[in-house]
Amino acid sequence: MKSAIRDAGELCRELELPADLASMAAAASFRVFAPRGYVAKMVPGDPDDPLLLQVLPRVAETSDASGFVQDPVGDLDASRAPGLIQKYRGRVLLIATGACAVHCRYCFRRHFPYEATPRTLEAWRPAIDQISKDNSIEEVILSGGDPLTLVDSLLEQLVGELERIPHLKRLRIHSRLPVVIPERVSDELLAWLTGSRLTPFVVIHSNHAREIQGDVATALSKLIHAGIPVLNQSVLLRGVNDDVESLVELSRALVNLRVVPYYLHQLDRVAGATHFEVPVDRGLQLIEQLRSQLPGYAVPRYVQEIAGELSKRVLA
Ligand SMILES: *Cc1c(COP(=O)(O)O)cnc(C)c1O
Ligand code: SF4
Repeated sequence: MKSAIRDAGELCRELELPADLASMAAAASFRVFAPRGYVAKMVPGDPDDPLLLQVLPRVAETSDASGFVQDPVGDLDASRAPGLIQKYRGRVLLIATGACAVHCRYCFRRHFPYEATPRTLEAWRPAIDQISKDNSIEEVILSGGDPLTLVDSLLEQLVGELERIPHLKRLRIHSRLPVVIPERVSDELLAWLTGSRLTPFVVIHSNHAREIQGDVATALSKLIHAGIPVLNQSVLLRGVNDDVESLVELSRALVNLRVVPYYLHQLDRVAGATHFEVPVDRGLQLIEQLRSQLPGYAVPRYVQEIAGELSKRVLA
């Protein structure tokens, strides 16, 4: 993470692109953060590279569009304690950290007030107490930000506290780190995940087949060979994966590695992400085409998050 690119100009230079491709105003509102290994998977000189589009601030982000808001999915209304969000029965989401290993331009939490979320075991205490008191909760989802940006010792402390809560059965980790910094899938991490009393699930986040090759494929295989179920969620993004070939290739690459294509999300309408939106009608068409080309298990559920509903809404 220390060596990641944090400057839009540097990102353009690195990829032999003109510096004015980046919008400094957009970078100022959500700064650039792109690990070098991820950037190395981009094609130099291609301004439309599907990996680049996910991290390069563009002028389109600063155009305000009605209906695109700061908190599109009602996270702030669903807060049960500092850093603890519950929307669905039986599972709670713990914002383990505000830090991410990549800044995705379409992120629905790009405006989330992370400064107010806990960073130490002490500060997590109210969230842990809340989980202890409610025995309808079976699963804790570590999210963020990206929980795997925390050092193992802190994660171990947090999960150690969770393991002491008898009604908790599963620990789910939502992380983009195995994709953007695959070195994070270390033997220590595997030992810790497989040694937990809680049944682990890892949900990665990849939007394009080119992201999960080489070192990333190796890292995912390590998780899978350790017996940890790995699921993938993607966001349907204009210019990145809104064509049938990209989605088919992504699903194939995933299932060949034994990663389950779990969700394809309709974009959450967060301010700054207007230009990534693909109409739901088009998404439905794409899913139908995927079904005609892939085994059923390789077709992700196409879902949309609607604030206030009891689960993600399944569109197809
Ligand atoms: C998406 C989400 C979950 C997980 O939903 P699943 O359908 O179980 O994957 C849990 N909590 C919150 C707040 C969420 O936004
Ligand atoms: S929370 Fe996830 S989608 Fe958002 S910037 Fe971080 S890694 Fe990207």
